[in-house]
Amino acid sequence: MSSLQAPRGTYDVLPADVERRLALEAHAARILGAAGYGRIETPTFEATELFSRGVGEATDIVQKEMYTFDDGGGRSLTLRPEGTAPVCRAYLEHGMHKLPQPVKLWYLETFFRAEAPQRGRYRQFWQVGAEAIGADGPETDAELILLLADLLAALGVREPRLKISSLGTAATRAEYREELAAFLHAHEDGLSPEVVARIDLNPMRAFDASDERTRATMAGAPIFLDRLAPEDAEHFARVRELLDDADLSYVIDPTLVRGLDYYTRTLFEFTSDALGAQSALGGGGRYDGLIEMLGGNPTPACGWAAGVERMLMASAQPPDAAPSSDLFVAVAPGDPAAPRAAFAIANEARRAGLSAQLELAGRSLKGQLKHADRLGARYVAIVSAEQQASLKNMESGEQTELECAAVIASILRGHRL
Ligand code: AMP
Repeated sequence: MSSLQAPRGTYDVLPADVERRLALEAHAARILGAAGYGRIETPTFEATELFSRGVGEATDIVQKEMYTFDDGGGRSLTLRPEGTAPVCRAYLEHGMHKLPQPVKLWYLETFFRAEAPQRGRYRQFWQVGAEAIGADGPETDAELILLLADLLAALGVREPRLKISSLGTAATRAEYREELAAFLHAHEDGLSPEVVARIDLNPMRAFDASDERTRATMAGAPIFLDRLAPEDAEHFARVRELLDDADLSYVIDPTLVRGLDYYTRTLFEFTSDALGAQSALGGGGRYDGLIEMLGGNPTPACGWAAGVERMLMASAQPPDAAPSSDLFVAVAPGDPAAPRAAFAIANEARRAGLSAQLELAGRSLKGQLKHADRLGARYVAIVSAEQQASLKNMESGEQTELECAAVIASILRGHRL
């Protein structure tokens, strides 16, 4: 093995892996396309400022995980760590607010985060994502959630579970944070010292504590979802109603958080127990403030991103059987004109729409036939001279002698495509 290896946290996609990835892409294109989502591709790198402003200066992604570099001209660029901010940048840059709203977009691209690699967590990974920009109704949120559910179902993802919550607005969250911190200070006796130490830093962490005494105290703590403003509570109730109508089951998880700053109102995540520690398949939510944060007019929007590697890992669908081939063109030893005639037959076959391979490794005739078998070839043409070939139907065993020029027509006649 060479001492050169792919960088830590990256992987090669080998031909054997490609079929399932192509199938995933085809399912995403079909499911999202049918709901009016158009595909978008944005650059692999963007101005660093897009992510520091769009994802949030204080988030783990921006603080610790970005691949940022100077482009040599004094500009700071960053390999994209997520897709929503670039899509919103493109929406603004191309004046998409002038199009009929919402503008529905989807993507399938690579993303880059300098995270500690482990199973299901890479430094370069792929996500499928969908965004609907310019609509605030609960139908948009529910439509997006159902589309991701459909994609997971089409991929045969095992044990998908949906958690949903609502984040309300930033103002409601700030008020709740204060209320919760006040509750915690008033109940310090019933909390572990670690939780007490973090009250003012991050009071929400108290809900994650595992010790009995803290848990008992937290059972009496105010719940964020009870504090939603009436219009946010109504929006959340209608999203749930639409999911109920569609028979999609979910649990409401008021402790749901996501590592990006821009979410408001609906928040959701699909997980699968089939995945192990990194159980998140994908998720998203509403981000009504992001477009304005990037310099546009206030524009409501909602979207999700799902990890390709995770979805494939959790998918129960077996890899497709090795594709078989229509024709293998072998060369019998003897006539120096045979290789050129064989090359022409393989070429003609492909132009006629058949899959065809030619002997390229100098094998003996026996070795060539063995190789044709390995490839699952339905026909083998053995070329022995410039004009002379024999064509063998590998299924029936039938063999005919014919002119090289007649090989393709003969296959097409007998071939049920
Ligand atoms: P996020 O953009 O963080 O909301 O991530 C959305 C989904 O992308 C997650 O649920 C994962 O399935 C996937 N994902 C996020 N980070 C990684 C990573 N480092 N490696 C592989 N998949 C990831």
